[in-house]
Amino acid sequence: MISIQSFTFSPIQENTYVLYDETKQAVIIDPGCYDERERSALAHFIEQKELTPVKLLNTHCHLDHIFGNAFVSEKYNLKPEFNQYDQVVFDAFLPSCQMYNLNGEVSPPAGNFLNEGDLVTFGNSSLEIFFTPGHSPGSITFYNRDQKFMIAGDVLFYGSIGRTDLPGGNFETLIDSIQTKLFSLSDDYKVYSGHGPVTTIGFERNNNPFL
Ligand SMILES: [Zn+2]
Repeated sequence: MISIQSFTFSPIQENTYVLYDETKQAVIIDPGCYDERERSALAHFIEQKELTPVKLLNTHCHLDHIFGNAFVSEKYNLKPEFNQYDQVVFDAFLPSCQMYNLNGEVSPPAGNFLNEGDLVTFGNSSLEIFFTPGHSPGSITFYNRDQKFMIAGDVLFYGSIGRTDLPGGNFETLIDSIQTKLFSLSDDYKVYSGHGPVTTIGFERNNNPFL
């Protein structure tokens, strides 16, 4: 049984997720911890729950989703895993920091590239992957069929969708990713987004003005 802990980090208010199960193995998805206080909050939770992080996963590589990669990578001896089409976004980290006037520590390079069809495993649990580009060229969504939830990054939000005006973004591609991949799952799937509150596939199918 997977438990999901969320944090909202950085001036960009990004959602970081820690998923763990009864074995106390954990994966950290999109660590956006930006300063010492936020890094401590993440580390303290992991310590307090006696978790062992075994994977560092990124839904995509926009700066706010990888601010904490360097910290997590070093503290837990993990290399980030993301889709190779987001390498170009990953490589733009420092210029992006300058553009937003924010500080950032560069993440170590990917230890593994993830693709649709791959299975991410930890403890007794696993996550499947959808390739869901459009917000960024290599956005991926992690989902679990047993507990019916997804970690959707910036693909789909409560009542909204990811922006498509950043380099590598494409509106039609994003809509297609949502319609053909995320909406192939049933209405009762919970959607944990990269920003904002938790929603469901059913709510977005029926209410999202972009879809
Ligand atoms: Zn993003």
